[in-house]
Amino acid sequence: MDSIKQKILIIDDSPETIQMMVEILKTSYSIIVATHGEKALQLAVKSPVPDLILLDIMMPDMDGYEVCRRLKANGNTQDIPVIFVTALGEVTDETKGFELGAADYIIKPISPAIVQARVKSHLMIRGLTRSLQFVNNELINLNLFLEEKVQQRTKELRYAVYFNSLTGLPSRVSLLKDLDQACYTLAQPPEQGLALLLLDCTRFSLINNSLGHGIGDKVLIAMAERFRNCLQSGESVYHLGEDDFGFLMRGIREETDVTSFANRILHTFAVSFQVESFEIFITARIGIVIGGAGYSQAVDIIRDGDTALQKAKADRTTGYYLFQGSLHDAALKRLRLENDLVIALKREEFLLHYQPIIDFKDNRIDAFEALVRWQNPQRGMVPPMEFISCLEETGLIVSVGMFIFRQACIQLREWQAVFKKELSMSVNLAPRQLSHPGLLADIDRILEETGIDPKDLKLEVTESGLLETGTHTVDILSALRLRGIQISIDDFGTGYSSLSYLNLLPVDILKIDRAFVKDIGPQGEHSEIAQAIVSVGQALGKKIVAEGLETAEQVAHLKQLGCNFGQGYYFSRPLDAKKATELLAVGQIPKA
Ligand code: C2E
Ligand code: MG
Ligand code: MG
Repeated sequence: MDSIKQKILIIDDSPETIQMMVEILKTSYSIIVATHGEKALQLAVKSPVPDLILLDIMMPDMDGYEVCRRLKANGNTQDIPVIFVTALGEVTDETKGFELGAADYIIKPISPAIVQARVKSHLMIRGLTRSLQFVNNELINLNLFLEEKVQQRTKELRYAVYFNSLTGLPSRVSLLKDLDQACYTLAQPPEQGLALLLLDCTRFSLINNSLGHGIGDKVLIAMAERFRNCLQSGESVYHLGEDDFGFLMRGIREETDVTSFANRILHTFAVSFQVESFEIFITARIGIVIGGAGYSQAVDIIRDGDTALQKAKADRTTGYYLFQGSLHDAALKRLRLENDLVIALKREEFLLHYQPIIDFKDNRIDAFEALVRWQNPQRGMVPPMEFISCLEETGLIVSVGMFIFRQACIQLREWQAVFKKELSMSVNLAPRQLSHPGLLADIDRILEETGIDPKDLKLEVTESGLLETGTHTVDILSALRLRGIQISIDDFGTGYSSLSYLNLLPVDILKIDRAFVKDIGPQGEHSEIAQAIVSVGQALGKKIVAEGLETAEQVAHLKQLGCNFGQGYYFSRPLDAKKATELLAVGQIPKA
């Protein structure tokens, strides 16, 4: 502003010089004067600080250089331009002044034009520097301000997308995101049960239309609060828009888990809503869909949930409707089985039964086949056909398989120590185990742990399993054989493997599937396939085991065909460890 003059401090011990300077500058500037250093330093810090200082060098108690040094050392005065005013010849050390931070020199005797010109230009430089600094600071501040605003706005937008602004509950977008995440988890074994419940209030628009949206909103807020309070662990609630709400329930095991959750939600409407002076009764319907591995994306689950909701609205009896997919019951049953199997592994509910394999040469027990059983407190003794495929599909077979392998080795070592050294053990290996990268390392570790000689072990791989797993299998089988373990093709004849392929496989034993044994009659009728398998096996130099021998005729016939070993109920059913030990103690199968 023009009315406020810029302030100049003149420091000089000579009254004449001061007077001259004042004369030259007083019309354009406001002038203050100090005749010695101490006074000057006091005046210099007084607000508003001077815009420029004219400083004499030669002064009695504190010279100009010292005054300048102190001005520059003080944060309040360091930016003020200092011009030394000095008599000609006094400039002994020009650089000293500049080093101390001086802006310029004016030589006495002073010329008014020079003083005015220098003062003017330095004030201009100072003015410009100040405005630049100001602009710079303003820009920094503006930038900070904008950044804060952007962050705040992003946060608000995120919130608006993921949460309902009225109730603060997670929104439809959140539900879709969580469902997609859940679908991914569903695909990972062990499967986690999940249910989606969609809720719609009956005739909510009536409240809005008759009492106004303000009341309607308050009811929704109260409703959301009740929902929040009724949740237990593994459950979440979403506000999908207007009077639509959604619920997710994770880790379900039974259908009743979900229906009781639905009842709990419906129960929150049992008490009326008191808003202002109104008492409002509301009813709602819920559509339920139970998710399982059958769902790969969120929209499918929501679609079925909507279908169920429509049914629930049409049906006025229960308040909820459970979506009935065609595979629904099977899926639930399967889900329960998977859950139980995970627990079974933890609780060590798996155990082994052993079925003897008889050497036709001397009618003695050559080996035992280890066959897994599941002893479950609720289900009783479960046969493998009911759970092996589930273990396979979930990948649990890898862990359970190694548990079985270890048990079989421990049992064999015990029997070898007590009875005979040449006894061997046959263990079944599932296709999933064969393709598991850790198989060889696991087997080596257990062999080492139990001290079993690999040549006393046989691994049974089903023919169909071999065909499924492909070329990599051959390498694994070869690696097992290199250790001395014998490989047996189980259920041979059912997998349609070509003869040329069979020739390539590194196997030692063929086990004729019992399907080809069971039809053989007393006179040896229907024995063509068994005969063909034995011929092929012999031609390829494999040992042959006949499975499922139930009658004396079957035994006699397969012996006569050239089988080396036999296994079946005729000799013995699979036995628990205690009974199998007793059998070994006798040493011979009575019927053989
Ligand atoms: P598999 O390996 O072919 O085992 C022979 C099955 O035939 C056993 O059934 C056995 O009890 C049954 N069996 C033996 N002799 C006779 C007979 O004379 N007549 C009839 N009708 N059946 C007989 P199990 O124990 O129910 O096992 C069924 C299948 O489950 C096994 O067939 C095998 O594929 C699988 N399995 C059993 N234990 C294991 C295991 O530890 N691991 C794997 N991966 N699979 C296993
Ligand atoms: Mg077997
Ligand atoms: Mg078999």
